Amino acid sequence: MSAVDAVVAKSIWKVFNPGKANEVTALEDVDLKVAAGEFVSLIGPSGCGKSTLLRVIADLTEPTKGEIQVAGKSAHEARLEQRYGIAFQQAALFDWRTVIRNIELPMELKGWDKSKREARAKELLELVQLPDFANHRPWELSGGMQQRVAIARALALDPSLLLMDEPFGALDEMTRERMQNELLAIRQATGKSVIFVTHSIPEAVYLSDTVIVMSPRPGRITHRIGVSFGTRNEALRESPEFFEHVTQVREALRAR
Ligand code: ADP
Ligand code: MG
Repeated sequence: MSAVDAVVAKSIWKVFNPGKANEVTALEDVDLKVAAGEFVSLIGPSGCGKSTLLRVIADLTEPTKGEIQVAGKSAHEARLEQRYGIAFQQAALFDWRTVIRNIELPMELKGWDKSKREARAKELLELVQLPDFANHRPWELSGGMQQRVAIARALALDPSLLLMDEPFGALDEMTRERMQNELLAIRQATGKSVIFVTHSIPEAVYLSDTVIVMSPRPGRITHRIGVSFGTRNEALRESPEFFEHVTQVREALRAR
């Protein structure tokens, strides 16, 4: 049998400001299962609850109702044990720290000694193809490079799950496509499970094993679209099978 599922969420509801005039139901009865090693994208209109769902999984906010397990633990235990790494649209690096010291930060907080931290950070800089930028400051790097540093930092403690909230949303299209290839390579090399929030249909299709389509608020899951391509490369992006999947997701987003 396979390893324990990366995420199992059952009947998740999230209501902000319950009972008040500004009450918002952000998530309505959401069921989500992410297998170990699976790449799942969440796609849906702005405000449909994608970030909220990711935050519930990360134990950054509590669900109003429902149950959630991350790597077989409660979301809270999983957070304390750092079972996941997280990366957002803004790389959120500390400008007063060098690149390598940014990547070391989670290890510092864990109390790792300097030589162990440095060795791990160097390994991660290789993985994200920035070995020559260890001692640069974040503001000296392009947006794509900064995002690679953020991904390296998210991987620092070797979590089995990566949570990514529109990580490439602020990048130009060419950089974005390059980053997608790099993320796939990293995922290939590490076997991580990934939950990836995006607005981009081609991005979701290119990256994912499963595309989860959400409805406008209150966010519900309306479609689960499996994607299985042999190889994911530049030629795929121009192939009929790729466009078929893009069309399928687009129609699902329109259907509701
Ligand atoms: P998405 O990431 O899909 O754009 P969000 O998960 O950020 O959507 O938000 C879903 C809905 O919940 C939105 O209507 C948003 O305004 C609302 N919301 C998100 N966070 C809060 C909060 N802390 N307090 C009140 N409402 C919130
Ligand atoms: Mg969001």
